[in-house]
Amino acid sequence: MFQRTRKVACPHCHGSNFWHGNPKPTDVLHCRYCDGVVTTYADYVEQTARREAERLLAEFVETDVSRDLAHLKAVLAAPEQRVSS
Ligand SMILES: [Zn+2]
Repeated sequence: MFQRTRKVACPHCHGSNFWHGNPKPTDVLHCRYCDGVVTTYADYVEQTARREAERLLAEFVETDVSRDLAHLKAVLAAPEQRVSS
């Protein structure tokens, strides 16, 4: 469920950097283009987790909406089940 890409864009020059191996939370990723500090591994993990949570939440919301729409269509397509006044 987690996106396995370990790509991180440099906030200074927007260059693509990657985590290699098995970094420790305190490890700092330095940009290979401008040598600036990109992020620490702890920050990277936290931001990635937050992005994933938002993405999953958005998917669940969309799923609920489509299920409601399907239910609504089914009800509208079956006039005999409508409550008659
Ligand atoms: Zn950079």
